[in-house]
Amino acid sequence: MAKDTDDHDAALESRIASGLHFADKETGAVIPPIHLATTYARDTEYALPDPGVGYSRDENPTYRVPERMLAELEAGADALLFASGMAAATAVFRALAPGDRIVVPDVMYWGLRHWIATFSETWGLERVTYVTSDPDSLALAITPGTRLVWVETPSNPLWDTTDLARAAELAHAAGAMLAVDSTVATPVHTQPILLGADIVMHAATKALNGHSDVLAGALVCRERNDFWGRIATERGEGGAVCGAFEAWLLQRGMRTLFLRQRRASESALAVAEALQAHPQVERVRYPGLADDPGHAVAAKQMRGGFGSMLSFMVRGGRDAALAVAGRLRLFASATSLGGVESLVEHRATIEGPDSPIPDNLLRLSVGIEVADDLIADLTQALDALD
Ligand SMILES: *Cc1c(COP(=O)(O)O)cnc(C)c1O
Repeated sequence: MAKDTDDHDAALESRIASGLHFADKETGAVIPPIHLATTYARDTEYALPDPGVGYSRDENPTYRVPERMLAELEAGADALLFASGMAAATAVFRALAPGDRIVVPDVMYWGLRHWIATFSETWGLERVTYVTSDPDSLALAITPGTRLVWVETPSNPLWDTTDLARAAELAHAAGAMLAVDSTVATPVHTQPILLGADIVMHAATKALNGHSDVLAGALVCRERNDFWGRIATERGEGGAVCGAFEAWLLQRGMRTLFLRQRRASESALAVAEALQAHPQVERVRYPGLADDPGHAVAAKQMRGGFGSMLSFMVRGGRDAALAVAGRLRLFASATSLGGVESLVEHRATIEGPDSPIPDNLLRLSVGIEVADDLIADLTQALDALD
């Protein structure tokens, strides 16, 4: 008889390390297979051997392990993989109906901000924004007609913190759902569903996969309701599905999520403190710093660290910031985040002339290198400004 090795009493971290103790029933393989088939043969009664698995735009068995891992990581009822973080996020908005009122942050992942600004009206959605850095602004934006409240915390690229328990209370009191982009917090530091969120979204491209080699997105729900059913239908019929190889790489990446994220988070705090002490740095934004405006709330809702993302403003404006980025050696000058390698990014350049981001701001994605090496690299690049 096959051994049941999924020990539900073990810590989540232990279960995730082994991919929820996957073992193939036929072969005993401890690593799940990749199913590349797009179509599945029916039996003599014209029934599918594995109900629901008939065509790979609807369902791919390769998703099972990573989707179960995601649901466990977020303490949710179900999870769905998508082709990208944007495909996952926009599926939530596409599942709404014309006339639905949405409340979204003023500062958030810029690609989604741009998509919502461009398409929400075409879609018939009534968009209301709130100021991420002002805790009362969300309360004012949510009204009885609100259907969905979207929150990102910590939010790109200033890492403002939103109180999720409070946001859930406000949303639910108005009869709205709360959806949280938790890409930056990761389930290692925050589990929004346990704080009241209805849907959690991840750009799995980032820390969940962790190796800058997969484009994928995920949604996790608190309960399988009609709205979740609409999202699942939207994935299959809209066709923004995750590739089989990407889904497989993602389950592999997630096995080391806790190790990578704890290390990166610890280093990010050390880097933030070192930057704060440097005379060429005007300001550092990181929720882990005691004087950050979001620190008290972050300390309450995040655990085991404050994440691997921080930003700092360089004295001397745009040119000085670009000079620092250009001199860094361990930090590659590249967009994206959450990989094992550290990255630096000049957000204002990426976002273009309409960007609300200060042009002396550099965003860091801290990887798993030795913290002292990262600090030494930043120090040499800043020292050269004198
Ligand atoms: C990258 C990112 C997204 C979009 O994910 P893609 O996989 O690039 O589509 C959404 N939200 C946040 C916070 C991100 O960092």
